[in-house]
Amino acid sequence: MSLFVLLMGVQGAGKGEQARFITQKYGIPQLSTGDLFRAMKTRQDDFARKIQQLMAEGRLIDDATTCEVVRERLAMPDAQNGVIFDGFPRTPTQAEWLDNYLQEHGAGLKAVILLKLDLYTAFKRAFGRVTAKDGKTYNLYSNNEGVEFAFEPHPEGQYPPRLKAVIRETNEELIRRPDDAHAHAIIKRIDTYIAETEPLIEYYQREGLLQVIDASQTISAVSGQIEQILNA
Ligand code: AMP
Repeated sequence: MSLFVLLMGVQGAGKGEQARFITQKYGIPQLSTGDLFRAMKTRQDDFARKIQQLMAEGRLIDDATTCEVVRERLAMPDAQNGVIFDGFPRTPTQAEWLDNYLQEHGAGLKAVILLKLDLYTAFKRAFGRVTAKDGKTYNLYSNNEGVEFAFEPHPEGQYPPRLKAVIRETNEELIRRPDDAHAHAIIKRIDTYIAETEPLIEYYQREGLLQVIDASQTISAVSGQIEQILNA
């Protein structure tokens, strides 16, 4: 049987982390539209450049483009037994498109899991997060043991200053996502989430699919609750 799961939550709620957990546990791939768009970064065409620009500004890519990218990904062999949607759908149009697509393919969503987090914590999780080469993440405000954080003036005098993070033991400099480096871009993404994604919560509640988890808990506590939902 196929397992299509939707993970919802504001940036920083831990969607990516929990998607990795579900992939390991249930053997279905993560379908992150953010990752699919970021992967276009190496392309030099106008279309790909426009997408990078919208992302850097914290704005949404249009529905038609987004649904087409998802359709292409769902057609791949590894997606035939299900996927975890991470960051998709983000608008009612995308949600309706997904309902129709799954119905046409004789499938449906098993659950819509909302990782609920207060917005100030969400801001700090995005603004403070940095990633190591091995994929491990750290944060300026939490989970920062062994990491030296420093704010350095931006070379072009932009605000906020650049956040430099280095693992003390190995001297490895950690990487920050460009769309996390600008406070206004994070706030814009949170505003966009409130305006465009929260209506989806009502949409899935009406469909009886919504499950809410407190995302301020530890990663493993959240994973445990996800497991209970998916095994039910
Ligand atoms: P994320 O990694 O999910 O935070 O997404 C990063 C950025 O990619 C977003 O701020 C949007 O610019 C774009 N994006 C990702 N998913 C979608 C979507 N479902 N619809 C529109 N834009 C998206």
